[in-house]
Amino acid sequence: MSVKDIAKKEPESLIGKAYIFAEKAHNGQKRASGEPYLNHSVCTADFLLEWKLDDETVAAGLLHDVAEDTSITLNEIEKEFGKNVSFLIAGITKLGKIKYRGTERQIGSIKKLILASSEDIRVLLIKLADRYHNMQTLRFLPKNKQKRIALETYEIYAPLAYRLGMQNLSGELEDLAFPYINPEAYKWLQENIKVKYEDREKYLAKIKPIVAKALAETGIRPQKISFRAKRYSSLYKKLLRYDMDIEKIYDLVAFRIIVSSVEDCYATLGVIHKLWPPFPGRIKDYIAMPKPNGYKSLHTVVIAVNKQIVEFQIRTAQMHEEAENGIAAHWAYEEKKGGKSYAQRRTSVADKKEVKWVQQLRTWQKEQENSEEFLESMKIDFFKDRIFAITPKGEVIDLPAGSTPVDFAYRIHSDIGNQCIGAKVNGQIVPLAHKLISGDIVEINTQKGKKPSSSWLEFVRTELAKHHIKKELSQKKGMAFPVKSKKTEFRVLAKNRIGIIKDISIIISRSHIGITSINSSSETHGGFHVVKIICDINDPKKVQKIALKLKNIEEVKEVEYKFI
Ligand code: MN
Repeated sequence: MSVKDIAKKEPESLIGKAYIFAEKAHNGQKRASGEPYLNHSVCTADFLLEWKLDDETVAAGLLHDVAEDTSITLNEIEKEFGKNVSFLIAGITKLGKIKYRGTERQIGSIKKLILASSEDIRVLLIKLADRYHNMQTLRFLPKNKQKRIALETYEIYAPLAYRLGMQNLSGELEDLAFPYINPEAYKWLQENIKVKYEDREKYLAKIKPIVAKALAETGIRPQKISFRAKRYSSLYKKLLRYDMDIEKIYDLVAFRIIVSSVEDCYATLGVIHKLWPPFPGRIKDYIAMPKPNGYKSLHTVVIAVNKQIVEFQIRTAQMHEEAENGIAAHWAYEEKKGGKSYAQRRTSVADKKEVKWVQQLRTWQKEQENSEEFLESMKIDFFKDRIFAITPKGEVIDLPAGSTPVDFAYRIHSDIGNQCIGAKVNGQIVPLAHKLISGDIVEINTQKGKKPSSSWLEFVRTELAKHHIKKELSQKKGMAFPVKSKKTEFRVLAKNRIGIIKDISIIISRSHIGITSINSSSETHGGFHVVKIICDINDPKKVQKIALKLKNIEEVKEVEYKFI
């Protein structure tokens, strides 16, 4: 049954009412594809229905773009559909503000922000359904948007789906993104794999009856025997590891056997190994040892008829459902058993599931980050001591809890921190000592030549901010009083570019200043090299001017100076 069917049959139900409401709200709006906007809302809700989520989530799926793209407010939605639905939509709207633009170091903190702001896992599930449909209609968007959204999907949402145990969705998202991220590789695969698939499928069709017969003789009644083609994106990843040699890929097409019980899984494995010898080292028991995301199955690779290598995946129907729908499947199972409302379930059985989810996240963190960061993430007990604030451009800034706009400003750049004169949070002017919370959009106002105030030291939270404020204050003093030193040492942080020392010395000598020494040490600073220059100058104004000029050199990241 689709969302539309439900709306027709039961217009008074929550889903029915949401359908009619969304239809009115989006009336006249069109998607980039030219279709009515409502189609997108309905497709999103249909995915949620397919994942067997509760009515509130499906209704929120229908309404997810209403607050963002129409004149209707969250208050109106709350009046009409209750607190829970409006809470889910508020979450979706918040997630919509987070954008990934392709800086490696951001991936980790964006994923954390998404998890932290999702508060309720259903928010993330709606977002995934929304993204799934957006990816299916990506071809209608302008080229630059296609690339950004595909990259975000590939780097952020597909891994999140995987971590929630939604393997199928994760693979679909990766596959949909793949042609936009790597068009050449996609073309190559299309041209080179097609014939291979067809050969393999013919062969598998031939051996399928052999498998079915052997199983029947042992008394095993499989629910389904099918073969599946390997996805383009995962095939490409594998090919890269095997010198692009297709001959070396054994699971280009693999058998999948669905049986009724765990016992039957192992029995089936035995039957297959009796038919054909297993390939050494390729038997994987993910039932006894599930993957970190909860995936359960038996895998084996055998040398079958005509010495052809074939992969088999064997699992129960429940394992299959979980492999397809992951965390959503857990909710669906509880629904069938208890039939209670989501709120009731949340306090009874869902606790157990949520604990499992948190465990999965911990494993994920373990895999992803170095041990120091992992320890920190354990200590912070999942984001409790961390906040994730957002720049107006959608960049995520990761800060300790209790941080202020001043900490935020220094995290972006020391100059922005030093010249900060005011801040807006979510469009409202706030005092500089205001405490930020996750999901806040922070805008910093600066004024050229402005200096930090010593009072900031009383409220800033990060060491970075304290360090810069103190440094700046001591330099301010240096300007007010006659400077006794005769020389200045510049420290220039730069990428190791040929000719950088020449560029630096040209700038200094053009200002008619003598250079006492210049050396490029092997000391690195996050991939940057440090160049130290000592010159005969003690006029703070001139020093500042030179520092500015040095900073404008290509590849220079930071310039510091001190009087010596
Ligand atoms: Mn949407």
